[in-house]
Amino acid sequence: MTASNTFSLAESNSAMPQVVVVGGGLTGLTVAFRLKQWAAGISVVLLESGDRPGGNIGTEWHEGFRVERGPNGFLDRTPAVPDLVRDLGLSAQLIAASDGSRKNRYVFVRGQLHKLPRGPLGLLTTPLLSWRGKWQLLSEPWRKSQPVSADESVHDFVTRRAGQEAADIFADALVTGIHGGDPRQLSVAATFPRLPVLEREAGSIIRGFLRAARQRKKEAKAQGLHPPGPMRMWSFREGLQVLIDALTQHLGDTVQCGVAVRSITKPTEASPWIIHTDRTTFTADAVVLTCPAYEQAAILHDYDRTLAEEIAGIPYNRIAVVALGYRRDDCPGGLDGFGYIAPQNTRRDLLGVQWCSSIFPDRAPPGFVLWRALCGGVHRGEQLDWDDDRLVKAVHAEIRLAMGVRGEPVFQRIIRWPKAIPQYVCGHLDRMARIEELASRHAGLFLTGNAYRGVAMADCVEQAGRIATQVSRMLLPPDRKSSV
Ligand SMILES: Cc1cc2nc3c(=O)[nH]c(=O)nc-3n(C[C@H](O)[C@H](O)[C@H](O)COP(=O)(O)OP(=O)(O)OC[C@H]3O[C@@H](n4cnc5c(N)ncnc54)[C@H](O)[C@@H]3O)c2cc1C
Repeated sequence: MTASNTFSLAESNSAMPQVVVVGGGLTGLTVAFRLKQWAAGISVVLLESGDRPGGNIGTEWHEGFRVERGPNGFLDRTPAVPDLVRDLGLSAQLIAASDGSRKNRYVFVRGQLHKLPRGPLGLLTTPLLSWRGKWQLLSEPWRKSQPVSADESVHDFVTRRAGQEAADIFADALVTGIHGGDPRQLSVAATFPRLPVLEREAGSIIRGFLRAARQRKKEAKAQGLHPPGPMRMWSFREGLQVLIDALTQHLGDTVQCGVAVRSITKPTEASPWIIHTDRTTFTADAVVLTCPAYEQAAILHDYDRTLAEEIAGIPYNRIAVVALGYRRDDCPGGLDGFGYIAPQNTRRDLLGVQWCSSIFPDRAPPGFVLWRALCGGVHRGEQLDWDDDRLVKAVHAEIRLAMGVRGEPVFQRIIRWPKAIPQYVCGHLDRMARIEELASRHAGLFLTGNAYRGVAMADCVEQAGRIATQVSRMLLPPDRKSSV
């Protein structure tokens, strides 16, 4: 694409509707890929401010250690990512997380590692709960209780349904592991939307899960398929970078890196969108913002300040990824597991440790292990300001305490995310409703990304597909809309 002060996409091919996608993380790349796949005849440009696409996702390779910068893998909770992987021709390259990593997960509480219980027998025998705590959790199917507030926190919801101990240990571990957030602040309806639905429909979470599993089995049987297995985590032998590279390759010169969007305007209802970047200006019929909320807010500030302020209200936490390599001989135990969580309420020097080389193959050279600690989160954000030496020493001390490693780390790599994961605090869904109402006043403006309706890779890919469908339906001629 030629550099000029004003580059109008419309000028390049006036017959084609034009879309500019802002942000080249997984969401933006998937929106652009789906638009190209489903809506031939729409011209797409993706603008990414960084020097590489991928956003949070990226894999580094140092001295035989393969380090994920952000996510470690994705769950097949919905078909969204597996379908994308298939459409990119990558299915044969997928690798599933080890069986051990699915079954053996730990929490670090009261000074030692405890295996997270699986099933009713595990719950009955776990030392993590008192007898009273066990009774409160296992009697959940018969408990009748009503939400106290319209938008309950994860902590209040789990306490109401399954007791305080379950909330303090299991809900905290879940939220710490996925969001690096505080269960007392996060909205259950926004963070785990399925839970309130199960309660409403089945009168109980446990009963609702069992009923849903029976239904899935029945449907699979009716279609002559194997009953669906438990949810699994997936990646690629060479890491999640494979997914980003494939998307980028398919998109070719649709992706322009090193171009930061500063603002957008639409002088009149009938005129196209004008996208101002730090280099040049684009015009388009539709703009899809997929960059983080605080960037979307800055871009929209002069165009619709009320909308921008709503978006700017979505908070983020801070996370440092501290990857350490050890000699295998220095690490006692079988290490056949996923790793452990140190619940936020324990305020330790790390949120948890993923045993990367136990989860996926080829993460460390033979004779070594690679572990990744996540530090910071909503309560320990100051850890990002620690220098590398202090962070490594703190993480090593935690790992030595929890796992009894003997030697010093032989490898280290630190990645700091000053604005890491958006936090869907109580009120998030009301905020979303206001954002959607305000945005709907601007034809051709689409807002998506991990700030809105799910932070997992699966959520991002699912939402990206939905947005690509909406954009296609808006821009394609009537006779082609039904094909999308
Ligand atoms: C440490 C960490 C661990 C995680 N672990 C997991 C996990 O194990 N499993 C899982 O499913 N999910 C995980 N996640 C969440 C998941 O990675 C993200 O939610 C997802 O990758 C977000 O993708 P996105 O495209 O919406 O946003 P981003 O990845 O943030 O991409 C947004 C892009 O927009 C670009 N941009 C910003 N401003 C501008 C601008 N003005 N103009 C143009 N471009 C701009 C950015 O450079 C960036 O590339 C993790 C996240 C983090 C941070």
